[in-house]
Amino acid sequence: MLTDYHVHLRPDEDDTPAERYFTAANADRYRTVAQERGITELGVAEHIHRFTQALDVWQHPWWRRWARDDVDAYCAFVREETDLRLGIEADYVAGAEDRLANFLDDREWDYVVGSVHFVRDEAVDMEDWSVWGRGESAEKVWRRYFETVAEAARTGLYDIMAHPDLVKVWGTDAPVPQGDLRRYYEPAIEGFLEGGVAVEVSTAGLRKPVGEIYPSRGFLELAVEAGLPVALSSDAHLPDQLGYRYAEAVALLEQVGIGELSVFERRERRSEPIG
Ligand SMILES: [Zn+2]
Ligand SMILES: [Zn+2]
Repeated sequence: MLTDYHVHLRPDEDDTPAERYFTAANADRYRTVAQERGITELGVAEHIHRFTQALDVWQHPWWRRWARDDVDAYCAFVREETDLRLGIEADYVAGAEDRLANFLDDREWDYVVGSVHFVRDEAVDMEDWSVWGRGESAEKVWRRYFETVAEAARTGLYDIMAHPDLVKVWGTDAPVPQGDLRRYYEPAIEGFLEGGVAVEVSTAGLRKPVGEIYPSRGFLELAVEAGLPVALSSDAHLPDQLGYRYAEAVALLEQVGIGELSVFERRERRSEPIG
């Protein structure tokens, strides 16, 4: 059994209105490709920042630029017109935990994917608002990023923590800290344990400058040691990206001794064997 839960029904680009992508025909395209690729557990997790209600949580200018759609219309569409699991990719916004909890508690998700794309006001994986813009050291940026990931997990708002080492996205195009990176990973793992979240293994990093699966093997080994559950996703933004290079992810999971994946329904987690 394979899963793909962290899936977007449309690209992160202008001119991708809900009316065109939140349709039964588009959901069918995703379902068909997933079936061809042996993915039986399929869900969608649209970005929170694309919903107008997200502006009750955070008013970052970049969120204001994107917030167009109605989150309840999205939920109704997924529940009534598709057979997909209903999720959301909800950024952690430090200091806005209560507002985020209100947003999430008002809807019946199958799972909530937590992600850290922003550390304070600065973006980890975008050139605009970049965390790297002020010339800070790799040491500082990485420490702050992983602290934020741990803090996010600890809130208990999330079921899965997405692309846990996203800070590496730029590969060697951004500063990279030296030495044993477990000093960053360990506090994050502790936060994951406390928050009771699953670790997302995502093949999206293979499409990015870093060219690696998220998280790194070192992170995943610590996660296994800690007994954390694992969720497998591609972070697809197009049907053809579903299950992207899953053979490599499955091989990695096997190498580190993971034989089961997390499956979610109405925010209950259970484990299913991969094969
Ligand atoms: Zn993300
Ligand atoms: Zn995503």
